[in-house]
Amino acid sequence: MVNLLDFDAEGLAAWFAQRGEKPFRARQVLRWMHRFGEDDFERMTDVAKSLRAKLAEEAEIRGPVPVRDSIAADGTRKWLLGVDNEVGSGNAVETVFIPEATRGTLCISSQVGCALDCSFCSTGKQGFNRNLTTAEIIGQLWHANRALGAARTPGGTDEGERVISNVVLMGMGEPLANFDNVVAALKLMLDDNAYGLSRRRVTVSTSGIVPAMDRLRDTVPVALAVSLHAPSDALRDQLVPINQKYPLRELMAACQRYLEKAPRDFVTFEYVMLDGVNDSAADARALLALTRDVPCKFNLIPFNPFPQSGYRRSSPERVRRFQEILMAANIVSTVRKTRGEDIDAACGQLAGQVRDKSRRTTIPLRPVVTATPAAGRSRTPEVHR
Ligand code: SAH
Ligand code: SF4
Repeated sequence: MVNLLDFDAEGLAAWFAQRGEKPFRARQVLRWMHRFGEDDFERMTDVAKSLRAKLAEEAEIRGPVPVRDSIAADGTRKWLLGVDNEVGSGNAVETVFIPEATRGTLCISSQVGCALDCSFCSTGKQGFNRNLTTAEIIGQLWHANRALGAARTPGGTDEGERVISNVVLMGMGEPLANFDNVVAALKLMLDDNAYGLSRRRVTVSTSGIVPAMDRLRDTVPVALAVSLHAPSDALRDQLVPINQKYPLRELMAACQRYLEKAPRDFVTFEYVMLDGVNDSAADARALLALTRDVPCKFNLIPFNPFPQSGYRRSSPERVRRFQEILMAANIVSTVRKTRGEDIDAACGQLAGQVRDKSRRTTIPLRPVVTATPAAGRSRTPEVHR
């Protein structure tokens, strides 16, 4: 069975063309699937009956299987989604919805685990199993939209409430290490017949895979966040090992090239604040020198601890001091508010369930609930407070 969630608009049109179906049929089905969250061809009432029957024979619309659904005291919601069809025994990834007054952000995963092994990251410590497919990446948005009641009903207006207004690829995995599938999913996020988000509202976060940053710029230049975390190669080599391959000078040049086509006129640098490691006043000043030629904003992320991480979170005073030095040089710097900490949904805490193939796992996997997965729409969330 072909899973139609695996296609972007172009791919779906090609698949329809192979079957002698017109492009507008593909668009109709795309809208049903993504805008209205439909997974049953029978209910696609404006699609010819004969085509519906043919589709049901050859294809399916199969989203990820919800294994666990948690809501934090602050309203942050996290889903553990099984991606191997076998609940409880296969791989699972995490997706987080962060409601705010003026926007709703969905943080999605791109890989099962991550092979890049940054020293402060819980996902990295879990090792790596595989890339997510396009269906599994876009399936997170598809699922969240349905679960939040945000899939627009065909009878309703197109101006239906945008519950999910922003998407960030900041969950498990390195998006640019799974380039083709991530790009297909990004195209769906931007497509007017699917999710219709603007390029400014979709952000890819990367640890700095330079050649892939250039390819992204030339394919779907969405907003870019770069995980910087250190002002010198000596320190960054330790914290973000991919730096040994693409050192800071090359990374800064890649950021400048990206900005030629980016939807915003700055790059966001993410900087996890590790007590006594990268959070001194001298580090802040070194960052100013490093990023002098790159229009940027800084997002300071207080380190989120996990078992055996070996790091401590910088004190609020140290974070403030650091922020002040950047701000004094006119670099807009925000401190990321930690959300959903009580359900382990904060940055760097996403662990999912990774069947490590790199034999690198150093911390025990969190137990995964193996209870029966209920249908995505009707399930009562397990509430942690
Ligand atoms: N692989 C991509 C995207 C996922 S990580 C990347 O590295 O950019 C999303 C952000 O969370 C990154 O900036 C990452 O460095 C940060 N992060 C990882 N572990 C963290 C932790 N324990 N506490 C706070 N932030 C963390
Ligand atoms: Fe991978 Fe990003 Fe974690 Fe580094 S910080 S290990 S690149 S997910």
